[in-house]
Amino acid sequence: MDGVRVGNRVIGTQAPVIVGWDNIPQVEGGPLKRFIFTWFQPAILVASILFWYYAPNSIAKASTAIGIGIGFRALLLALEWVNPRFESWQLTWKELVTDLFFVGLGYTLINLVSYYIGSDAIVEASLNHLGLDHLGWFTPLPLLVQALLILFIFDFGQYWMHRAMHNWYPLWLPHAAHHYITQFNINKGAVGNPVELFLIGLGIGGLFDFLPRAFLLSGGISMAISTYDHINVRFNSPRWWRFLFNTTEHHSVHHSLDYEATRSNFAGTFIFIDRMFGTCIDGEAEVLGMEGGRRMSIREQMTYPFREGWKAIKVRLQPSGGWPALGGGN
Ligand SMILES: [Zn+2]
Ligand SMILES: [Zn+2]
Repeated sequence: MDGVRVGNRVIGTQAPVIVGWDNIPQVEGGPLKRFIFTWFQPAILVASILFWYYAPNSIAKASTAIGIGIGFRALLLALEWVNPRFESWQLTWKELVTDLFFVGLGYTLINLVSYYIGSDAIVEASLNHLGLDHLGWFTPLPLLVQALLILFIFDFGQYWMHRAMHNWYPLWLPHAAHHYITQFNINKGAVGNPVELFLIGLGIGGLFDFLPRAFLLSGGISMAISTYDHINVRFNSPRWWRFLFNTTEHHSVHHSLDYEATRSNFAGTFIFIDRMFGTCIDGEAEVLGMEGGRRMSIREQMTYPFREGWKAIKVRLQPSGGWPALGGGN
């Protein structure tokens, strides 16, 4: 298969990846439908910012954020019915059962973590530890600037963590199971090994309900941008949106069957971080997964890092041993 040259690498030699926005299909249908699927994302973002900016303290709480998050996902689920991106990604019972298992597991873990480390004292101590209580320069900044800074710092860290996961075998192990998903839909962000979910949950879960407004605002912005990472809806996202933000298109390239293409688009929220470091590929892929699209059972997703990790350690302990090659699944 001929690849496409992007910067100094050639992608799409192993599996098809569409490169370039002009080659990606547009939303089909009448003017009203096209208008809705062009402006839906920016409208929700603006609404979310206004809500968390102006909501009175009595309702600006983590429980409200969780409720809005669930409602938003239900709305997107309806859009997946109305305007799917790919027929091949449409939900089957088997996929739904797997997804719900992981969504349930995610909520359980977050609850457990909140229960053990979510006490007032611990949260206050960690905020103090982060220096957020005496950041004299931080708190006078406008609320929106504070929220964007928090988001940027968080996403910058997660960019490098995610990139490291794709470059060092011990970190790849807990992340690999997530890359065995073979389609996108609203719940797929939760599918993966709980070791990874736990690492993410640890960052978010324990702080709930004691958060300053800037954190709630940054959560609202993040919801309105990064929920689209794994969904099956076709949007005509405006040019400025896809320049700044991660989109389903970007993340589908990251999940494609083509090894070179997966080494791109690591940011969760701000794709411009990938642009800064030369890892962004604007494009889209329909066929997703590892090992030619082999589907993993729940049991294999759960045990993969331990089983493969144990195998790798045994090899590494031999005199000539190193870590297995990354992306060997192709
Ligand atoms: Zn990844
Ligand atoms: Zn993903």
